[in-house]
Amino acid sequence: MKYCQRCVTPHSRPNIRFDESGRCNCATSDDKDRIDWDARERLFREVVENARRRGKGWDCVIPVSGGKDSTWQVLKCLEYGLKPLAVTWRPPGRTALGQRNLDNLIGLGVDHLDFSINPSVEKRFTWLALERHGAPAVPMHMALFSIPLNVAVKYDIPLVVWGENSAFEYGGEDDARRGFALDEAWLRTYGVTQGTTWRDWIGEELSERDMTPYMWPSDGELKARGILAIFLGYYFRWDPSTTYAVARAHGFRERAEGARTGFYNYADVDDDFISIHHWLKWYKFGFTRTFDNLSLEIRNGRMTRDEALRVLRERGDETPHADIDKFCAWLGVSRERFFEVCEKFRNPEVWSRRNGHWEIDNFIVPEWSWS
Ligand SMILES: [Zn+2]
Repeated sequence: MKYCQRCVTPHSRPNIRFDESGRCNCATSDDKDRIDWDARERLFREVVENARRRGKGWDCVIPVSGGKDSTWQVLKCLEYGLKPLAVTWRPPGRTALGQRNLDNLIGLGVDHLDFSINPSVEKRFTWLALERHGAPAVPMHMALFSIPLNVAVKYDIPLVVWGENSAFEYGGEDDARRGFALDEAWLRTYGVTQGTTWRDWIGEELSERDMTPYMWPSDGELKARGILAIFLGYYFRWDPSTTYAVARAHGFRERAEGARTGFYNYADVDDDFISIHHWLKWYKFGFTRTFDNLSLEIRNGRMTRDEALRVLRERGDETPHADIDKFCAWLGVSRERFFEVCEKFRNPEVWSRRNGHWEIDNFIVPEWSWS
């Protein structure tokens, strides 16, 4: 295993590129310093004016979870005079804190739709996605993409405002990370759908009618209707600690008990099952959500690499046992079966079997307990 010389991102991370000096495109933080953010803000004003001119009631759809980022998105849109319709895909593992923060977000002064998907379909789809790709969050990511776009089409709303562009924040190598529109090509590459669309899941377990909530309007239809989908992170400098501070000042609350997955106690707080999605990366690529979070801390100059390594060592094994129990209970499968399926996705290029257990060669933390 090889790692970035500057942060803790491994070479196994998908869509990442390393330069000759062994640094990953955590260099995007340097790129961000070179961006003329005032010019980007002026571009955003143009987007706003255009939406307000064309809006026949609501000017924009904001896909929201209730998290710090969506709270920040809503505040930005209100600040610039947009009239938003906030839309949520209701996660089956929504936490009490997630509901509280969502209620707080609505209270900022927006109309809101909470969209639930038939649990029977959602469970079948989730299990199938886990079995086929080791990616239980494919349904979630498709729902997050399709529901807001469909709402925009149905209510004739000219703008959809997404938050950060994960391709830009965490590395991605083609032009998509430079762009700002979110379309089907982006979804296939960065949307965590394993390169699939809703059409690929129709079969014995899921009928075409079952897939209705996951079907999104075509790029052609969005274009014909003049619906623009943007990432706010293209127009404003995106940093989790900033969005957190702003959201907190407006009623958002973090998790008092500490981080549920990863390093931040204010991220991934609204859903009990998101940790499962992040956890599978350990099998597939040999890193966890904490690696991503710590790399971001290093990039933003708030932590040294040595401090990050100390955090990883102190954390040790990060298997989210309690969440796995809840997830298995929801799906109606045993823990044994769950881990059996996870095991199928253990990457042999990352993991070696040694002394009766699995190990990562040249792991970033040398004295790691693998048993
Ligand atoms: Zn790096």
